[in-house]
Amino acid sequence: MMDLYYKSTRNSDLKVTASEAILTGLAPDGGLFVPERIPKLDVTLDELKGMSYQETAYCVMKQFLTDFTEDELKACISKAYDSKFDTEEIAPLVKVDDTYYLELFHGATIAFKDMALSILPHLLTASAKKNNVENEIVILTATSGDTGKAALAGFADVEGTRIIVFYPKNGVSRIQELQMVTQKGGNVDVVAIHGNFDNAQSGVKAMFEDKELGEELSGRGYQFSSANSINIGRLVPQVVYYVYAYAKLLDNGEVRENERVDIVVPTGNFGNILAAYYAKLMGIPIDKLICASNENKVLFDFFRTGVYDKNRDFVLTTSPSMDILISSNLERLIYLIAGEDSDRTRALMEELRSGGRYEISADMKAGLADFLGGYASEEETAEEIGRIYEKTGYVMDTHTAVASHVCRKLCDGGKKCVIASTASPYKFVKSVMTAIDRSYEGKDEFALLETLRDVSKTPMPQAIKDILEADIIHRAECDADKMEETVKGILGI
Ligand SMILES: *Cc1c(COP(=O)(O)O)cnc(C)c1O
Repeated sequence: MMDLYYKSTRNSDLKVTASEAILTGLAPDGGLFVPERIPKLDVTLDELKGMSYQETAYCVMKQFLTDFTEDELKACISKAYDSKFDTEEIAPLVKVDDTYYLELFHGATIAFKDMALSILPHLLTASAKKNNVENEIVILTATSGDTGKAALAGFADVEGTRIIVFYPKNGVSRIQELQMVTQKGGNVDVVAIHGNFDNAQSGVKAMFEDKELGEELSGRGYQFSSANSINIGRLVPQVVYYVYAYAKLLDNGEVRENERVDIVVPTGNFGNILAAYYAKLMGIPIDKLICASNENKVLFDFFRTGVYDKNRDFVLTTSPSMDILISSNLERLIYLIAGEDSDRTRALMEELRSGGRYEISADMKAGLADFLGGYASEEETAEEIGRIYEKTGYVMDTHTAVASHVCRKLCDGGKKCVIASTASPYKFVKSVMTAIDRSYEGKDEFALLETLRDVSKTPMPQAIKDILEADIIHRAECDADKMEETVKGILGI
């Protein structure tokens, strides 16, 4: 098979292997790593039809990660997609009414970040071995809630790694905090900082950029790495479930071979929907990619006008994982529609950095023909949860509801539509239950978990039982300007 190399969106002279891209995360010029071409699948849809999730994952990922051997890649896949998931299907496709919900929330933390963060640690350690890196990899993460827990669960007890997560002491929900402070594993640390999420993120960024600290760590056998969503090792595993979903539709007789379907994705950082686009470019019969935003509708405006403008009020919504004004993975799409021109891409990203805004040219706009943007207001999101529940008994979370609303508004009836369902309703129980019935408004979040179980007739996920029963393990706190000392203390240097 031909080797596939990765280039930076901001410098096409840079060329690295997949494992180097995974180890590095962000390119040194600040760009994102992209494959020099999107590979095609080398199996037919008919062959994909009967495959398990793990087999599908191998077929898709081997096309992107060409410097991994078959054994290495299969080992990563089987360690990631195992009994941590509460269903053998890993990502079940559920038909509700005439629409298909691709449930990506059956992993350890009941949200879709598990799909990639279960495998990233194994891809990272395999990449380290391959590149003769002997240092222990220390993952530093600042979190506003969800990513931290998914990263902790993914890295817990993975040999050759340690993980330290910082979260704002009073800036995450009680459930999110409990999820993190009860995390088991000999290599995990969780620290609450006295400050907000920006303080946590700046502190982590400063440590990554501190060359002196890097050298000191290296002398002690450690090196930092990040688990954030721009790592190609998170993007590639996300292509898998779109391929798997199409094969399931075919296998279940829901579509004819090569019948094109629309995909609707509730979007924040643009990683998940970009993975769906990659699946299309690999050869899966996908028609439109529909980008669903909440009231932070920067992307909706971008697809409509060609202007990306983050200069606007930031809205706190009931779908917090989509409360984002800079969708970092969009840079990979910009690069594609700029004709893979890294100078053009770099110039636009520079405009975004300095003025918070850029406008793409008409020829680039033409490259967006496969995409549609839509959004749901807070009211529409709640209304969608209630409506589908009344009609079918199916209960969805707030993020999924944003996509479900947009689907109803934009999908044309003639085509089948797959909605990426990104979180379990248990994770956002308060907003979900209030959407179903206003009278739950003042109720205690923990009491509502049982009500949700009765209303949805779905079992309480292990992740929820864990926070109700597990012991608190992590009690560390620190001031926002003492993060480096804290890390050194944890690592014993
Ligand atoms: C992260 C997240 C999203 C947004 O996904 P992106 O890849 O950042 O666009 C949507 N829903 C949930 C529940 C998430 O955790």
